[in-house]
Amino acid sequence: ALTIGIVGLPNVGKSTLFNALTKNDVLAANYPFATIEPNVGVVSLPDPRLTTLAGIFGSERILPATVSFVDIAGIVRGASEGEGLGNQFLANIREADAIAQVVRGFSDDDVVHVDGAVNPKNDLETINAELMLADLQTLEKAIPRLEKEVKTKKADPAVLEAAGAAKDALERGVLLSQAGLDLAPIKELGLMTAKPYIYVFNVDEAVLTDAARLAELEALVAPARAVFLDAKIESELIGLDPEDAAELLASTGQTESGIDQLARIGFDTLGLQTYLTAGPKESRAWTIGKGWKAPQAAGVIHTDFEKGFIKAEVISFDDLVALGSVAEARAKGKARLEGKDYVMQDGDVVEFRFNN
Ligand code: GDP
Repeated sequence: ALTIGIVGLPNVGKSTLFNALTKNDVLAANYPFATIEPNVGVVSLPDPRLTTLAGIFGSERILPATVSFVDIAGIVRGASEGEGLGNQFLANIREADAIAQVVRGFSDDDVVHVDGAVNPKNDLETINAELMLADLQTLEKAIPRLEKEVKTKKADPAVLEAAGAAKDALERGVLLSQAGLDLAPIKELGLMTAKPYIYVFNVDEAVLTDAARLAELEALVAPARAVFLDAKIESELIGLDPEDAAELLASTGQTESGIDQLARIGFDTLGLQTYLTAGPKESRAWTIGKGWKAPQAAGVIHTDFEKGFIKAEVISFDDLVALGSVAEARAKGKARLEGKDYVMQDGDVVEFRFNN
C-alpha cells in the first residue's frame, strides 16, 4: 500500500498526532528523537456513502478504504549532513510515497521549541531546506555517473537532462513537486521533494475557527494543501463515543475531525480514488489509482477478475440512491454495461462480469 510519511521538527506534535492516527497510546515524549523506529498507522478513509449503501443492500458490514501513515523520526537542522538521526531519517522518507509535514502553530510555554520560538513559516522552511539539500546531494552524486553512462550509451540522455533541470530548480529554492518538470526519467533517484506534499498545521483550538489566520497559513504553502487540526483535541476525540466526539467537534466549530480531513486529503494527494461494491454481505470501497480502467480496477478485487474481465455493470452512487435499488436502476436504464476501456469514476457502484 502507498504510505504517507509524517515529518516535522521535534516537539511540533507528530507523536501526539500519530498516536491519534493509530489509536495507540504510545507515550508522546516532550523531547527530540523520541520516535526512533518508523511506525505505520492505518486509518479509515471516511466515506458516508458506504453507510447509505449498507442501508440499501442490508449489508452486514462496511469496509472503508484505508490510508497508511508512517511516523518518521524528527528532523533537525543539519539532517542532510547526517546530524542527529539524519541518515536514517532520510532513508525512511525516501520510502514514503507522499510527505505530510506537521508544523507547530500552537503556543504553549511548557513545550520547548527547538528554535526558541513558534514560527510556522521558519519551521517549514527549515524542513524543506533540509530536504532540498539532501536532494541536491543525491543529484550531485548522480550527475557525474550519468554523464559517464550517457557517453558510453548506458543511460538515456533524457535522464541526465532531467537530473540537470532538477538540480537547477533546487538551487533556485524550488521544491521539485512544484517545479513543473517531467521527473519520470529520474524516478529511481528517490528524490524527496518530488513527492506529493501536504502540510498539517497543529494549531490552538481558537485558531481552528479563525478564518483570517487559516487563510494566512494556507497562503504560506499554496499550491500544496493544508490541513488544520489541534493534535490535543484529536487525541481526546479518539477516546470518545461517536455522540460525544461529535459534540466536542461541534464545540470547536468543526464538522469533521482533523484525522478524517488528513485521511481524505492524504488519499487524494497520493493520487488515489475508490469505487464501491455493495451486497448483503458487505458494502465496500476499493482503492485504485485515478484514471484506472475497468479491468485494472477489477484486479484489485481478484486477479481472476482482471484476467477474465468481460464487462462492468456500473451505476453511479447518486442514481442508485435516487432510484433505491439495482433493479430500479436497471429498469430506468441507469445501469451501464462498460467495457475494458472504461475509465473508472469516483462514486461508481460496480459489479464485474468475468470468465473463470
Ligand atoms: P513530536 O516531537 O513532534 O513528536 O511532538 P509531540 O507529539 O511529542 O509533542 C510535544 C509536546 O507538545 C508534548 O508535550 C505534547 O503534549 C505537546 N503538544 C502536542 N500537540 C499539542 C497541541 O496541539 N497543543 C498543545 N498545547 N500542546 C501540544
